[in-house]
Amino acid sequence: MRKARCPICGFDVELDDNVVEGELIDHDCGVTLEVVVEGDNLSLKPFEGVGEDWGE
Ligand SMILES: [Zn+2]
Repeated sequence: MRKARCPICGFDVELDDNVVEGELIDHDCGVTLEVVVEGDNLSLKPFEGVGEDWGE
């Protein structure tokens, strides 16, 4: 089990060991999160729907 932090509510999100980039997670707070893999680290960003650009 791996963990990342929910960017919306700030609580931990539990992820499978074999989680992959782009996987969508429904968190308890009601948001859908997209997994971002950065080397050995995992982070999450809010999923805004298919086909939308996520600008910085
Ligand atoms: Zn959350």
